[in-house]
Amino acid sequence: MKFPEFITATSLDQGLEIKRERGTEARVIAGGTDLILKMRDKVLSPSVLIDLRRASLDGVTLSGEYLGLGASLSVSGVIENADIAQMFPALAAACKEFAGPPIRNRATLAGNIVNASPAADLVPPMIAYDADIVLRSSAGERILPLAEFFVGPGQSVIEPDEILTEIRLPLTSAATAATFIKLGQRRSMTISQVNLATRLSLDEQGKVSTARIVLGAVAPVPMRAVAAEAMLTGEELSEELLGAAARKAREEAMPISDFRASRAYRLQMTEVLVRRALARIAHQGAG
Ligand SMILES: Cc1cc2nc3c(=O)[nH]c(=O)nc-3n(C[C@H](O)[C@H](O)[C@H](O)COP(=O)(O)OP(=O)(O)OC[C@H]3O[C@@H](n4cnc5c(N)ncnc54)[C@H](O)[C@@H]3O)c2cc1C
Repeated sequence: MKFPEFITATSLDQGLEIKRERGTEARVIAGGTDLILKMRDKVLSPSVLIDLRRASLDGVTLSGEYLGLGASLSVSGVIENADIAQMFPALAAACKEFAGPPIRNRATLAGNIVNASPAADLVPPMIAYDADIVLRSSAGERILPLAEFFVGPGQSVIEPDEILTEIRLPLTSAATAATFIKLGQRRSMTISQVNLATRLSLDEQGKVSTARIVLGAVAPVPMRAVAAEAMLTGEELSEELLGAAARKAREEAMPISDFRASRAYRLQMTEVLVRRALARIAHQGAG
């Protein structure tokens, strides 16, 4: 592997300037836990690596409407943050099931998103919380729902001159509960065969006002099971309804068979785990 030029950007503007000049030839290196493997396997061959660790993109900021997570925030940084644990427990749970401590210390939220793996563990909880992402270029910034970022395995709508700078999680009401479940071949240090995040909000009558069921590793991109969500919305929770929504989510999933799991197993486990996740929230109470 011919090693590329390595530039430590001391500001975001410097990183954006390099992206403007060099486009896809220049890649941000965050933790490097995906990128270095892709370079080793010649999937990617950038001529410039931009290190943004000195560009102050790892903060957590509370605004009136959302919690902003800096793109360079590490998985360990999420686990250590009490606000995230309290307000967005499904994201904190996904981080605790992510690899082991050495990888968690390096791996970042932005890397997990931009790598665009269908099995990325941090993406379903962020989509379940209706996350927006901020993409900056030297021409300006655009904000889009994370759910609209992915177009296929390893592919997204990021432009060659853009850098992901922030993830924004809208503040949810108290009557909201969410959970994350990951299934892998082992209990730890494993890539997901199926992962999912669910979130339910209840109105004052105890009916579901918002439902999110987000599935990973069962389609070319992380996906919302929108028909299953629609079955729940406006209804009171019951065992029958949870079972029906889980069956609907299974119908919506489009998994492939690969070395981690067969299509049939992934479909079966989608139904089992969606039902389990919804039941967990219903029993905890979304209020
Ligand atoms: C042993 C091991 C275990 C793992 N376990 C898990 C696991 O349990 N769950 C899981 O989901 N993943 C896992 N992974 C995959 C990987 O660790 C994650 O996807 C991680 O979040 C990638 O983050 P990173 O900071 O290392 O990204 P990098 O490898 O640095 O970058 C990944 C991609 O994102 C781009 N990028 C990074 N930051 C930005 C930015 N700000 N703007 C634009 N582009 C950017 C890079 O250019 C590159 O294309 C594992 C990997 C290894 C090696």
